[in-house]
Amino acid sequence: MRFLSHAVLILTVIVLAACSSTPKKTTPLPSQQVSRLKAMRLGFHLPIPVKGVKADQLTDTWGASRSAGRWHEGIDILAPRDSKVTSATEGLIASLQSNTLGGNVIWILGPAGSWHYYAHLEKSKRGLKVGDYVHAGDLIGYVGNSGNAQHTVTHLHYGIYLDGKGRGAVNPFPYLR
Ligand SMILES: [Zn+2]
Repeated sequence: MRFLSHAVLILTVIVLAACSSTPKKTTPLPSQQVSRLKAMRLGFHLPIPVKGVKADQLTDTWGASRSAGRWHEGIDILAPRDSKVTSATEGLIASLQSNTLGGNVIWILGPAGSWHYYAHLEKSKRGLKVGDYVHAGDLIGYVGNSGNAQHTVTHLHYGIYLDGKGRGAVNPFPYLR
């Protein structure tokens, strides 16, 4: 009986500890890993970030015009729903969010301060969170058509930005050949 009450007490403490350590809204990225990433160079050849898609299946959709005067800052990689989306680089998960344009999106801070944008996901990998470190080829989510892609075929929108989050877009197509 005494053993049992001990066990209950320990369990209660564990549960309370778990509650009080719930992460706050914005988690700062680990600065050591950020500086290490900034010092790395971004390769000219990156793995295609959707499992099962080959280089000769890619279409260069960079720069095509979009609604409201926007133009296409990335590449659309067509793939069946729930195909595995893998990181094209190593880096830090910098943001996981949902919005009306990109749907479920992931931003990864990669080598040389590059930013990588993965959009229209069906969902991100279960348990993935801001601050996680990923390597090229690691699973981060699944292909879908969330956001403004809801009336299109399922695809991954992948964008590379060289001058910060959302700044200095470059065409991913030559990187994926
Ligand atoms: Zn796109």
